[in-house]
Formats: sequence, C-alpha cells, structure tokens
Amino acid sequence: MSDAQSRLDLFIDRMVSQRACLDFAIADTADLAGPVFELGLGNGRTYHHMMNRVRNRPVYVFERAVASHPDSTPPEDRLILGDVRETLPAALDRFGATASVIHADLGGHNREKNDAFARLVSPLIEPLLAEGGLMVSSDRMYFETLAEQPLPADAVPGRCFIYRR
Ligand code: SAM
Repeated sequence: MSDAQSRLDLFIDRMVSQRACLDFAIADTADLAGPVFELGLGNGRTYHHMMNRVRNRPVYVFERAVASHPDSTPPEDRLILGDVRETLPAALDRFGATASVIHADLGGHNREKNDAFARLVSPLIEPLLAEGGLMVSSDRMYFETLAEQPLPADAVPGRCFIYRR
C-alpha cells in the first residue's frame, strides 16, 4: 500500500481544516461588528456553516456564477455577483477596511493556477480587512501587511491558512 495521500485524504483534510479555521476565526473576532465576506460560494457548504455560526454580523458572498444548494444561497442583497478581480476593488469603495472575517475558497483542482490566482487577489483582499480581523484561505496568500497565524488544533498544516491585521 502507498504512503501517499489519496485525493479522498486531501479532500477530508481540506474540509476538516476549513471548519476548524472558520470556527476559530468567527469566535476570535466575535467582538468586531464589521461584515464577514465569503469569497467563492460553490455548493455553499462553507457559507451555510458560516450562517450557522456568525451572530450579529452580515455575511456577504462574492461569486461569479451562483450554483449553490438552495438551502445555502444568499439573499440578493448579500450577494456580490461578478468576478472578484472587479468586485473586490468595488467592495473597498463600498465597505472600506471593515471586514471582520474574510474566507477565500476560490481555487479549483490545479495547484499552480490556484497559486497564481492567490498572488493576483492578495492585494485586492488585503485592504478590506479591519484592524484585528482574520483572513482564512485554502491557499497560501501573498500579503504585505497581514501576519500568518498559528492554526487551530484540528486544522492540517498546508490545507488552510489564517492571517491577521
Ligand atoms: N467553499 C465552497 C463550498 O463550501 O461549497 C466551495 C467554493 S468553490 C471551490 C470555488 C468557487 O469560487 C466557485 O463557485 C467559483 O465559481 C468561484 N470563483 C472562482 N474564481 C472566481 C472569480 N474570479 N470571481 C468570482 N468567483 C470565483
């Protein structure tokens, strides 16, 4: 039997890590009033999880094409439809540096493409985070002013990243 991780192993590690990092970030920023941003709705699993956990803060979703489970679809006034390369700069004009949590899960199956995209969107995400806010990502990000944080106990190193302003 091979020691290499199967795709199933990697998928499970990613899911467990997303939940652990989101739970940590939401609890750690509970005293902040700023909005929570979900970048990449997909099926809506992490959005649904965030809606279950986030209290007293609006959750806005950035997505180019909604294809989520009906239970996990944001209301129109909380959906920011379009390519994040355009909607993130527009969000800076609208919200300023107020986001208490930003979660990004924008990648697909190609690691190199995900990394190139993370480099491209990092400077668009960075100015949106409030002082003390946390950014959670499935990909390593390239921030100049945010500090990488230790992961919560249940998260698997390399499968999830947390950054703080
Ligand atoms: N976290 C989600 C879940 O739990 O179901 C899965 C997100 S899925 C991996 C990635 C999503 O990001 C897709 O729905 C895709 O359309 C969206 N996405 C990727 N690139 C984007 C872009 N440039 N602008 C807006 N949305 C994008």
